[in-house]
Amino acid sequence: MGRVATLHRGATDPVARTAALVAFLLAVIVGCSGGEESAGEGGGESSAPQQETTGVSAEAAADANEAGLIMVLEYHRVGGDPSFAPEWTISTEDFRDQLQYLYDNDYYPMNFRDLVEDNIDVPAGKTPVVLTFDDSSDTQFTMVRENDEWVPDPDGAVGVMADFSERNPDWPMRATFFVLPEADAPNNLFGQPELSEKKLNYLVDNGMEIGTHTLYHENLALASPEEVQRQIVLSIEAVQEYVPGYEVRTLGVPFGEYPEDITLLHSGSYEGRSYRLSGAAEVTGGATYPPGHPEFDPFRVPRIQAEPEKEDIGYYFDYFESNPDERFVSDGDPETRTVPDDADLRETTGAADEQY
Ligand SMILES: [Zn+2]
Repeated sequence: MGRVATLHRGATDPVARTAALVAFLLAVIVGCSGGEESAGEGGGESSAPQQETTGVSAEAAADANEAGLIMVLEYHRVGGDPSFAPEWTISTEDFRDQLQYLYDNDYYPMNFRDLVEDNIDVPAGKTPVVLTFDDSSDTQFTMVRENDEWVPDPDGAVGVMADFSERNPDWPMRATFFVLPEADAPNNLFGQPELSEKKLNYLVDNGMEIGTHTLYHENLALASPEEVQRQIVLSIEAVQEYVPGYEVRTLGVPFGEYPEDITLLHSGSYEGRSYRLSGAAEVTGGATYPPGHPEFDPFRVPRIQAEPEKEDIGYYFDYFESNPDERFVSDGDPETRTVPDDADLRETTGAADEQY
């Protein structure tokens, strides 16, 4: 746990990303194979590869593990009528408790896009966590009138998060909503069509992300290539109708069913209008390796279902309490990747094995 390698994070162009990945692996190989013999050379911290950054304190770097695992949580219905779809519902109270647990255990929220684009900007010592919400149901974001103003229903997902962030200013409102613009009510952009514009702008204005879940939960494994592209283009345009110029960059894959040609998710076009995505989320799979890790695929990011009936989330909360060294822990600088010299990136862990 002593020495660390602090590396520059890859830029967005593919060549730089590849170079960063190679450097990421080399540092680990050096750390694993040469650790004992080279420990005396130069003495102590200076035997680590050169730290080109000034943004990471020695203390933050020593505790960091940016090769560790990250939880991407997956929610559907939050509160509302529990008999409507019991297996896809978490009570308002349980959702509040989960936020509190994450907060108390040094997690820190970020949007899914920032994960897949390798832009992990969380304070030193914190473990990023991504909250994702599928199917844009009324229970996630109903608005109600209060003092002549439209505000989030305090018992829905957005209302709970708004209240939580107000009481805990060091927990920003970050979450990703994979929405269905043309689903039947109550999944049609949160179930109050007259307020769709207000809601989508509320999410964006408060730092949250809107991703697509296709127009109406299309099974992309059964769709033609043209239909896959049509679903993506039109669902993005439906969001942009309410939030002009908004860049939708991520997809929650309906049913976790991928098209045969996965590159259709990377980019494509329909009737001359094109799109480019940065990543996509699966529906199950466990915790994810971080960007830069050889096992990380931004278009196949596993998730952990948060409904109590699934028992997944409790398993992972417990898992990382028992195995804190498997958690991703930030060095506080999004430009660097700090990896303990004894990290073994190819070793599969219990948490990651759960998935497949
Ligand atoms: Zn869904």
